[in-house]
Amino acid sequence: MKNFEFSQLKPKVQEFLNNEIPLYINGEYQKASSNASFEVLDPSTGKQIATASEANETDVNLAVQAARNAFDNGEWTQMPAQERSNILYEFARLLKAHREELAELESIDSGKVYETALADDIDGTIQQFEYYAGFATQISGKTTQISNDLVAYTLHEPIGVVGQIIPWNFPLLMASWKLGAALAVGCTIVIKPAMETPLSLLYAAQLFKEAGFPDGVVNIVPGPGRTVGEALTNHTDVDKLAFTGSTAVGTGVMKNAAEQIKNVTLELGGKSPAIVLDDADLEETIEGVYNGTMYNHGQNCSACTRVYVQRNVYEDVIEKLKQRASEVQVGPSMDPNSDMGPLISERQQQRVLDYIDKGKEEGAKLLCGGNKVHDAGYYVEPTIFVDVEDDMTIAREEIFGPVMVVFVFDEVDEVINRANDSEYGLASSVWTQNIKNGHYISNKLKAGTVWINTVGQELETMPFGGYKQSGIGREMGGEYGIQSYTEVKSVMINID
Ligand code: NAD
Ligand code: MN
Repeated sequence: MKNFEFSQLKPKVQEFLNNEIPLYINGEYQKASSNASFEVLDPSTGKQIATASEANETDVNLAVQAARNAFDNGEWTQMPAQERSNILYEFARLLKAHREELAELESIDSGKVYETALADDIDGTIQQFEYYAGFATQISGKTTQISNDLVAYTLHEPIGVVGQIIPWNFPLLMASWKLGAALAVGCTIVIKPAMETPLSLLYAAQLFKEAGFPDGVVNIVPGPGRTVGEALTNHTDVDKLAFTGSTAVGTGVMKNAAEQIKNVTLELGGKSPAIVLDDADLEETIEGVYNGTMYNHGQNCSACTRVYVQRNVYEDVIEKLKQRASEVQVGPSMDPNSDMGPLISERQQQRVLDYIDKGKEEGAKLLCGGNKVHDAGYYVEPTIFVDVEDDMTIAREEIFGPVMVVFVFDEVDEVINRANDSEYGLASSVWTQNIKNGHYISNKLKAGTVWINTVGQELETMPFGGYKQSGIGREMGGEYGIQSYTEVKSVMINID
């Protein structure tokens, strides 16, 4: 097991990490007004890799002021859509030119293996910006034919200054989901990365400037949720909030938003089901179901961690899942031999281990895994529980770690009810070769996304979001994502 040497990192990454990493406000990198800073950790070792400036309420006020000015002075909002599109394309091109630097930063900051950070997170981010660059020129309202004397049409205007709060599981990618649509329509933004993972977005800040975004269009304020997050959600000059994270914090964000009837989009937790029918192609299913839970070490809001297997194939499926898990090499994110890296933090590792203990206590059977591994860093083995009852804690609560729970079922209608018996409703997957059954089940599932014979596809072309307590609103998916960042204005002109 080997981690990286600092000297092996790309020169630009070394340079970036060597100095205190500043905030980004009004087009300038700048220190926190209080001079406070925090340690940035590599979860593969638990060691510090950088120091970053820590914003407070004063910095949030400065950032919101910058975003407000940039919105109100009209340079960005009134810019012809084609020019906005060109700037977004240029930003995507610059991200491409820095993709390996960004992937290194994402890997050492978040613990995901380098190749995945590169292919999924960074290339996914680039794709997101390219897609929304194209969308900037596609925003349109409608005309309504009422009478010859009345010209009536709708305008989709940018909603204003947007506050965006980002989690640590897909740091740059989650930022791109929010920034892409908001920038395409002409909003201005104050964005708060998670303190666990501030690096990639703050590195990208220089590229906003280089791409030609006017000063103040994007402002970045890393800091704690209870200070920076609260200041942002309570700010009277912020017109809309977009949050991704836990349901508990999302509830607070919505309460703060309610004080000023602020528009709000929430992408929250999940406890998504995977349903395996006995006619499924088992090879494809095992790989899909395994990755459906273990991708990003289970730190994935749409992870399909509740796996329901039809009785005829149950023994076979759990045997094969156990085999699949045993092949996995858990180790440092920059070690090319690692298939799976550490969890994000000691706190998250402990939280996952506590859930594993709870599962054992409540009588579920450990099929494999269940332990932390390596002395340093925050690793947990891929863990699978069988003999799980529907009312056990591990069957109901979001664990946000590499823990799968497997149930057995007999009838299709029975499993649909059990799958829907959750306060969440983010995603789901169905594995069957019978398209009629697959379609029937997908109609009945209460989830924002249903994957049939696939899993984890979160595409910029398709809307993503939750039913029930998994959230409000949709991101991506062209006009669906755009909708969350626009106000609709009805215009009626009497030409009699
Ligand atoms: P969290 O909800 O506390 O953090 C998400 C973001 O919200 C971070 O940027 C955080 O700084 C910010 N935040 C925290 N308190 C805030 C407040 N009062 N006001 C405004 N912003 C605030 O999540 P966490 O504590 O890092 O992780 C805990 C659990 O949340 C995880 O175990 C997992 O279940 C869930 N989670 C879900 C997602 C997701 O993608 N849905 C992402 C991260 C975490
Ligand atoms: Mn980190």
